[in-house]
Amino acid sequence: MIAQVVPVLLAFGANLGDRGETIRAAQDELSAAPGISGFVASPLRETIALTPEGPDPDAPRYLNGVATARTTLSPHELLDLVQRVEAAHGRTREVRWGARTLDIDIILFGGRVVQDERLTVPHPRAHERDFVLSPWLALDPDAVLMGHGRVAELLERVGDTTLPLGASDPAPPAGEAPHAR
Ligand code: ATP
Ligand code: MG
Ligand code: MG
Repeated sequence: MIAQVVPVLLAFGANLGDRGETIRAAQDELSAAPGISGFVASPLRETIALTPEGPDPDAPRYLNGVATARTTLSPHELLDLVQRVEAAHGRTREVRWGARTLDIDIILFGGRVVQDERLTVPHPRAHERDFVLSPWLALDPDAVLMGHGRVAELLERVGDTTLPLGASDPAPPAGEAPHAR
């Protein structure tokens, strides 16, 4: 039997260590992994940390990006793979939405809906996250988030507080606080 090839969207984030180097290395590893092909990464955006209390301008900033790829893996095999890559780059989980060397989330797995104790796809918070929507729109101006509609419209609704790489120095003046998200 020939394995089905499914398009997927992955989201990357890092706010500790050499963020760009970590994300690029992780993307290289994923693009070379068995069962993954056609890996295309977005530009990276710099973003304010999102904590359980809301955006925290004092926390180390994130770099965020997304990538599209095709896979013959199952959803759970892909989750195993991205978690191995996270672990190889020192990812630990102490507190929810705590600072991290690397986060890799599965945003879409073809048109599949998956909901179990390990995996929820489509990712349930992607539609409200500028740090996912903004790099995704840069990669694909016609992108559509299953169940939520056009990414361009979603991003307009939430407001894009992300910055191009290197644009965050000096700190933005007061009054340019990020939108709550
Ligand atoms: P968020 O999901 O809000 O972005 P997070 O990425 O910080 O939060 P993690 O600590 O990386 O959360 O992951 C917690 C658990 O979420 C993982 O152990 C994994 O099993 C589960 N999970 C559920 N759905 C997904 C998904 N679509 N992509 C990645 N992990 C998922
Ligand atoms: Mg995440
Ligand atoms: Mg995660």
